[in-house]
This record gives sequence, C-alpha cells and structure tokens, in this order.
Amino acid sequence: MSQCLLCGKSSEKIAGCLQFCYSCLRDHFPEIHKEIDTVHAKIRRAHDLPTAPPQDLNNPVCTLCVNSCRIPAGARGYCGVRTNREGKIHGGTAGIFIITTTPCRRTA
Ligand code: SF4
Ligand SMILES: [Zn+2]
Repeated sequence: MSQCLLCGKSSEKIAGCLQFCYSCLRDHFPEIHKEIDTVHAKIRRAHDLPTAPPQDLNNPVCTLCVNSCRIPAGARGYCGVRTNREGKIHGGTAGIFIITTTPCRRTA
C-alpha cells in the first residue's frame, strides 16, 4: 500500500517507486512531471541506462526509432539494447519493447 504524494490517497494500485495515484497522474501531470522525471531517471541509472537519448553529434546515429540516439563509444542507446562498438551501431530489436514497457517494482 502506497500513498499519493499529491492528494494523500492510499491504495495498493499506487506504485511505491512513483507515489502518485492514477487520478493525479491524469489530472495534474504538469504539476508533477518533474518528480516523475526524477523517479524515471533514478530507475534508469539503477539499470545503467542513459537518462535521456544521447545526442552528441560526434557519435554515430541509430535510426531504428524516433529517439535517434547518438551513441558514445562503448555505450548504449536510450533503449539499452543498441550499442556503439568500434564506431558502429549493434544490437537487436527484440528487447526494446520489453525494456520500455517493464513496470517499476512496487515497494512495501
Ligand atoms: S533503437 Fe535504441 S539506440 Fe536506437 S534510436 Fe531508439 S532508443 Fe536509441
Ligand atoms: Zn493522488
């Protein structure tokens, strides 16, 4: 059971890592999106993923999706699947859907 940080409602449907209820996410997104971005970035860092699509123009571009990542040498794109090895983009596409739709884990 978690409590919404905005309205104070308690529910088992509120993810402990996010701490906003569905109603607040839907109706108050502009007010809380910075907190959501912070949680999102924290989770991505915990999984060694970039917090935003890398965009350094000196790096090769991946054209597989709209993020158009410019992946640094030895690093991964925003999806965590595509990599830059020796200046070339490698990696399959099967895992992209899984990674981008995996829900965050509830805590207590
Ligand atoms: S497939 Fe991955 S690496 Fe390629 S642009 Fe999209 S998020 Fe970036
Ligand atoms: Zn709420």
